Amino acid sequence: MKILVINCGSSSIKYKLYDARTENELAGGLIERIGEQSSHTVHKCGGAAFERDNRIADYEMGIGQILDLLTTCGDPPPIERAEEIAGAGHRVVHGGERFADSVRIDARVLDAIDHCADLAPLHNPANLAGIRATMKLLRTKPQVAVFDTAFFQTMPPAAYTYAVPHAWYDQYRVRRYGFHGTSHRFVAAQAAALLGKAKPNLITLHLGNGGSMTCIRDGAAVDQTMGLTPLEGLVMGTRCGDIDPAIVFYMLGKGLSPDAVRRALEKESGLLGVSGVSRDLRDVMSAAQEGNARAALAVEVFAHRARKYVGAFLAELGTCDAVVFTGGIGENSPPMRARILDGLAPLGIDLDAQRNDARGSEPFAITADGSRIAAWVIPTNEELMIARDTVRLIA
Ligand code: AMP
Repeated sequence: MKILVINCGSSSIKYKLYDARTENELAGGLIERIGEQSSHTVHKCGGAAFERDNRIADYEMGIGQILDLLTTCGDPPPIERAEEIAGAGHRVVHGGERFADSVRIDARVLDAIDHCADLAPLHNPANLAGIRATMKLLRTKPQVAVFDTAFFQTMPPAAYTYAVPHAWYDQYRVRRYGFHGTSHRFVAAQAAALLGKAKPNLITLHLGNGGSMTCIRDGAAVDQTMGLTPLEGLVMGTRCGDIDPAIVFYMLGKGLSPDAVRRALEKESGLLGVSGVSRDLRDVMSAAQEGNARAALAVEVFAHRARKYVGAFLAELGTCDAVVFTGGIGENSPPMRARILDGLAPLGIDLDAQRNDARGSEPFAITADGSRIAAWVIPTNEELMIARDTVRLIA
């Protein structure tokens, strides 16, 4: 059974084709700059890469090109005809309070995704356009929506309620939702298997260009660092994470426009804002090593925020089986992992420096054998999780 996984951004489509039985990735790629004069496609299949520069006007053209590449590139191509695709799984950013799990898409689901669009104005309309295009081109094939927010619908009201006038929640759905759910759910399931415990207590850190942490009790999410939007919580590549909301009014008072403040907090803050060097931790860390004081500060601010949440989530859980690192930074930066866990041995997390320096595409432990709480690096695979959900729901 072949499953197509689609992730539509505001001007891009990422995709992967899986063999559901073996879970092998048969092909995949990325189309960028959709709607611009010249779009760029990179398609990978069987170790070879194919590139195209042509104008992709919209998502329907984009999905059409993907189906064309899947049936023509490779020796032999992974499929001969688009009809061989059994179903498609779509990443959808915001499912609001409506979706606590992935779902087969019908007209009511399309309406509900549309209804959540004002909570994720850059993402949900693009996700929806991709779904509609795929439904048109793979007419008879079932489609599944996998929501970034669904995993966090188990959070209790005490964790998701903002202490603002309650009418904001009743009328405008202002609450904490949590994001990166597909990644947190994937690594949590892997950790449960590694621990041999069906419903463990976990703290999962997805640290990439965006970053978030989840507190998991008995296998279910009970808290998350991201809120109404993915701007809250950890320090990220360009996003500020937690700040005093009064900063917004203070800066408006200094003459910045609402748009400029928003842009600053979303695109000019985080590692980039503090360091002035880059949003990429690799660049920031090498600048810090060369003596750049602001780069060193950015690294410390990043680690401090994450460490603070590890402590908060440990307090929330009482007992914790494992801490899990994933995402580009979580998987690849031993120094950042060490900084985040620095000084936490008295709380039960006893890092082993040598194990922490390891690298690999398989999960590995980074704590000492006697550590009361294990820490693991577990590579995430959101696309595979979407493919698994798609198989489960179309079976
Ligand atoms: P992601 O969004 O999960 O793809 O993560 C991308 C980010 O991971 C990049 O912007 C880098 O900041 C970070 N990253 C990747 N490799 C490394 C590395 N070896 N050391 C430090 N950071 C890394």
